[in-house]
Formats: sequence, structure tokens, C-alpha cells
Amino acid sequence: MTLLRSLLLLTAFAFSTVTLAEDFSISPIKDNLYRFSNGTHHSVFAVTDAGIALTDTLSYHAANWLKKALKSRFNKPVRYVIYSHSHPDHVYGGQVFNEPGVTFIAHEWARDDLLATRANTQIPNLVFNDEMTLYLGDTQIDLRYHGPNNGKGSISINFPKQKVLHVVDWIVLGRMPYKTLPGYDIRGMINSTRDVLQMDFDLLVGGHAEAGDKDEVRSYLRYLEQLYQAVLQGMREGKSLATLQQEIRLDEFKALAMYEAWLPLNIEGVYNDLADQSYMLIRPDLPVKE
Ligand SMILES: [Zn+2]
Repeated sequence: MTLLRSLLLLTAFAFSTVTLAEDFSISPIKDNLYRFSNGTHHSVFAVTDAGIALTDTLSYHAANWLKKALKSRFNKPVRYVIYSHSHPDHVYGGQVFNEPGVTFIAHEWARDDLLATRANTQIPNLVFNDEMTLYLGDTQIDLRYHGPNNGKGSISINFPKQKVLHVVDWIVLGRMPYKTLPGYDIRGMINSTRDVLQMDFDLLVGGHAEAGDKDEVRSYLRYLEQLYQAVLQGMREGKSLATLQQEIRLDEFKALAMYEAWLPLNIEGVYNDLADQSYMLIRPDLPVKE
């Protein structure tokens, strides 16, 4: 390799690293609502006369960037930081906003998980169990728990006046659910998504991938239901994971990003969930596994 080529490669590597590390942005959603993004991760904030309510801080570096950006763009104090659930790739960096007058809110099980695992972020000082409503300036924010689905204490964050709903990790629009569905409760995802579809909203802003309307959430639910039913039926017939990965196609959804690459992984995720949580592989009433 020539010296020049080595230098070019080094430069390219350094540049891509810098680009990745600083892939932060703010984009308007509707009225006083904005989406904050750190690469593939998103959160939401509301700017009001009485201050700012933020959801996830995403990471320590992201939170530092956001704090400066909020100061220069809006110059309002942050009043609330609301954690969507307990996972570190969403709620790290909370301590950056820990100042007098800032309340950190989470579902009680998200707080428990952050404490029990000694997570390096701000521990919430206000928790709830089923529902909580906040009023900040002219903005109402409804927080709701829909049962287990992913992570601990995973909630929806609703802005009823704007008809915007924010859900992280257990509803993903425009892209397949993540790989082998690590830590997901598949029936919990289905139940929680059905529950959300009873709510009144025009736009769902995900913690990953795209924002979308209610029809897109309905389509996502159909995908989960069909995936679950196909894997369940195959396991009831004694089929192996490898067979299910060869046989199951859900081509109604093939326009979703990562469809070909992640469908076999999604199948594996449901298979493992049914094996681990429902003991489907040791059921005496089902055929012996292939
Ligand atoms: Zn996530």
C-alpha cells in the first residue's frame, strides 16, 4: 500500500468517526413539538412559555449537544425530563440536565431497573404506575404504561393537543423490528400496540426509524400478528427454527427497510420467546421437534 493511499484511508476513517459521533439534529414535528435525533435514535421535546419538557436524553454526548442547542435556539429552562423506558441507549446523559427546578420522570419499574443496575444516568425523582398527566405552559403530556413489551417500565408519551404520540422501541415504522428482538415480549408488543391504536393521534414518532400515521401503526400491528401466528403455528407442528426461517414469508411487508435481512432474525426472536417464556419445546401435547 502506498503512503498516499494509507493517508487517504486514515483520513476517511477519521472523517467517518467524527461524522458518526456528531450526528445530532433537531427537526420540527408540529406546533411546539420537535424531534431530537442522535443518528438512529430519536426523542421528542415540547417548547412552552413555562419551559421545555424533554423525553430521552439518548447519551451523554447527545445530551450535552442538546443542552447547548436548546439554550441557543429557544433560551427556555428545561423543566421535565421524561424517560421512555430503562435502556441505556435511550436514557443515558440525563445527569447533564440535573439542575434545580428540573424533574426527572419515569415509570416506577424503569426507575427500579436504573437503580438496580447502577446505571450511569440521572435517577428519576418522580414515578408513576399506570398513567400520569403533566401540564407545562399550554402543553399537556399524557404518560401511559401499556404492560410489558420491551425494557422495564416502557411507556407511551402523548401530546393530545397536537395529536402526536411518541413510542420508543416497541413500535417501529418503516423498518423491521430489530434483528432477533432482544429482550422483547412479542405478545406484549402486540397487546401494547393494540392499546395504542385505541388512542387519538395523527402522528406516531418512533424512537427509531420513521414517523408515521395511524394506518402505518395498523400495518405494523398486522406484521407482528402475522409473524407471531406463523411461528406459533410452525412450532405447534413441530417444525425447527431453520425450517421456519426457510418457509415463512410475509411479503405484504417487503417494502419495510431490512425486510430480507431481518425476517429470519425476527422469526428467531419469536421462536426463542415462545421457547423461553411459554416452554413450547417441552409440550407433551405437541409433535417431537424435527
Ligand atoms: Zn431502542
